[in-house]
Amino acid sequence: MKLYNSLTRKKEEFVPIEPGKVKMYTCGPTVYHFAHIGNLRSYIMEDVLERYLRYDGYDVTRVMNITDVGHLSSDGDTGEDKMLKGAKREKKSVLEIAKFYTDAFFDDCKKLNIKTPDVVEPATGCIDDFITVISSLIEKGYAYEAGGNIYFDTSKLKDYYVFHNFNEEDLEVGVREGVEADGNKRNKADFVLWFTKSKFDDQELKWDSPWGVGYPGWHIECSCISMKHLGEYLDIHCGGIDNAFPHHTNEIAQSEAYLGHKWCNYWFHILHLNTSSGKMSKSKGEFLTVSLLESKGYNPIAYRMFCLGSHYRKSLVFTYENLDNAVISYNKLIQKIAAVKDEGELDAEAFDALKSEFKAALDNDINTSLAITALYSVLKSKTNGHTKLALIEDFDRVLALNLLSEADKARKEAEKESAEAPTEELSDDPFIRSIQEKIAARTAAKKAKNYAEADAIRNELEAMGVILTDTAKGTTFTIKQ
Ligand code: AMP
Ligand code: ZN
Repeated sequence: MKLYNSLTRKKEEFVPIEPGKVKMYTCGPTVYHFAHIGNLRSYIMEDVLERYLRYDGYDVTRVMNITDVGHLSSDGDTGEDKMLKGAKREKKSVLEIAKFYTDAFFDDCKKLNIKTPDVVEPATGCIDDFITVISSLIEKGYAYEAGGNIYFDTSKLKDYYVFHNFNEEDLEVGVREGVEADGNKRNKADFVLWFTKSKFDDQELKWDSPWGVGYPGWHIECSCISMKHLGEYLDIHCGGIDNAFPHHTNEIAQSEAYLGHKWCNYWFHILHLNTSSGKMSKSKGEFLTVSLLESKGYNPIAYRMFCLGSHYRKSLVFTYENLDNAVISYNKLIQKIAAVKDEGELDAEAFDALKSEFKAALDNDINTSLAITALYSVLKSKTNGHTKLALIEDFDRVLALNLLSEADKARKEAEKESAEAPTEELSDDPFIRSIQEKIAARTAAKKAKNYAEADAIRNELEAMGVILTDTAKGTTFTIKQ
């Protein structure tokens, strides 16, 4: 499998450290608010990667943190802790907020068929581990105390800006936004490992440490939680592209300084989902959630389909029109699958050829839209229905679009409807019979929400002088004389 690695900025053959095994780490949500559908784009694409690795035969262990302390509003070391902000907004304690939004996050994941990682660990559960690593960094000369806080000294590293896309000037952003620069830092890029003093010293959760009562910086949690469960070497680290700097850059700095060797081989970054007006932001409080989509009548899986329709390394624009198109494609796909009859014996040759097309798509840097094209190849192929259904079930282990269960539902609904509908005798008159067949095709198109096709059939009939009327009991027609 080829994967794009942000560290080398190349597509590379994926080779795990231990043959057959993959150690994978994912930056989890900051649980001060609902996840927006942009955050969930990242988790959907990471889920596809994990599922594909398993499908390909790897034994995957995936770990994710829950950020419930230390993530400040700026992503750097300035601003208020996001958790505290959430707690104040809702007049609740930080722990109440964390519990509520952690549960909400996993509810959303369930609706989107995002698997829960093997290990999920909140930052507040690992304070002792953070203290151990920070103490060692001080001992090794990579960290220093200033103004009551412990900072990582980035000047001690040969190559701090490992992702190359960012430089010192980007660090000016925080300053331009009117946030005071931290005079304790020896170098502009230095970052806090442990706070005992910040501008916002009303932090609700604090712990004792060798440097005084305080709380951890944001970045240390991912290094420690990863090392705690996956050891000193990591195969793949994932996150949205905004995490590359400063978060992942700082994770690499502190992990490798602590370990004394390279830590993670592949960095998998997902580009952002944007709205037509720009960036989606949790902190602004105006954002799209799965519940909002549901309240508008969308099946969350249609959003998953929308995400799989484009490559994870391209930014994606969300509009309701784009989502509606994904709904139409999804419903069409389900109707097509529902029409496949489970007939014949498994045709091994066809199975392998079609599976190879699917694997080739995903082997090429997780090309999900081509993987969906491979699904259409199955439907179009000449092989028997049994083989087609076996392939669809197989592909859905990775795509997780509920293909067979939804098709089954659609089939049952259609059967129920046809049982309930008064069975209209098809006419012996070939002209009337052709009208009846067109009306049936239009009804099916409407059911599949394929309104363009339904309208085209209506127009075609109208051109023939046949006027349709939709009633509660079905569609009737009159012929213009
Ligand atoms: P957060 O809860 O803010 O810590 O972010 C959770 C995950 O969502 C991280 O991996 C972020 O990089 C990612 N993320 C944030 N905004 C977006 C977006 N608009 N599109 C895709 N991923 C995002
Ligand atoms: Zn992280």
